[in-house]
Amino acid sequence: MLIIGSHVGFNKNDQLLGSLNEALSYGANTFMFYTGAPQNTNRGPIIDGYTLQAMEIMKEKQIDYSKVIVHAPYIINLANGDVEKFSFSVRFLKEEVIRCEMLGIKYMVLHPGSHVGQGVDTGINNIIRGLNEVLENSSVTILLETMAGKGTEIGRDFTEIKQIISGIEKKDLIGVCMDTCHLNDAGYDVSKFDEILDIFDKEIGLSYLKCIHVNDSKNVLGAHKDRHENIGFGEIGFDSLINIIYNPRLENVPKILETPYVNEKAPYKHEIEMIRNKKFDSELKEKISN
Ligand code: FE
Ligand code: FE
Ligand code: ZN
Repeated sequence: MLIIGSHVGFNKNDQLLGSLNEALSYGANTFMFYTGAPQNTNRGPIIDGYTLQAMEIMKEKQIDYSKVIVHAPYIINLANGDVEKFSFSVRFLKEEVIRCEMLGIKYMVLHPGSHVGQGVDTGINNIIRGLNEVLENSSVTILLETMAGKGTEIGRDFTEIKQIISGIEKKDLIGVCMDTCHLNDAGYDVSKFDEILDIFDKEIGLSYLKCIHVNDSKNVLGAHKDRHENIGFGEIGFDSLINIIYNPRLENVPKILETPYVNEKAPYKHEIEMIRNKKFDSELKEKISN
């Protein structure tokens, strides 16, 4: 069965229950959310009542909660070795792990980080050091996201991801999230996805792949830009994305859309419908706007 959803909100009024209801309104059977604004540290308490209500509904709807994803805030940068910035990132990531544990979340996606001129190897060593500290007291698995390679981003290829994983002490608490837009922008031709999976399997191991962000890209192969586009409207194209989504080797891996809003409207209901129909709708953006 296709496990598909999108990024959804998580607000203070109804928390996980609101996230779930938003996902259900899109016809999704999974979802991903930030536990608070990704660009700041303001976080309210987790209210168990909402979590329990959401869990009950998910049971009814046969949604596998173990595949629901949290995205770590992007102000966390474990690659930066600056003492103050590094300790902030470690501390905030530890707090996010606790919030995930309170919510019963199993997987959290994390951008590996940017080395900000300190060099790739130093950056990778910082990430390893930070993650080992965070994972010491964690029951949450952290998924390293493959990045587009803009600026000094680490995780632009499988070799860098592999290097990080090889330094992690608790291998059962580390995994990978592929982002199709980032892969394209990093220079991986996702129209040949089986070849990419072969390379990934050889370098890292397919069992580490726990999530896929399905996005089209506004930019050409290898552009190192990272600008998402709606499904079928970008440089990757509809057919390649459908092939990825329905690849039998990825059947149990949740697929998450992070495509841009159209005229301030979420595109996900329409995109999920289009994906289920396996037929590109060139008027999709007009339909979303209306
Ligand atoms: Fe991300
Ligand atoms: Fe992503
Ligand atoms: Zn991105």
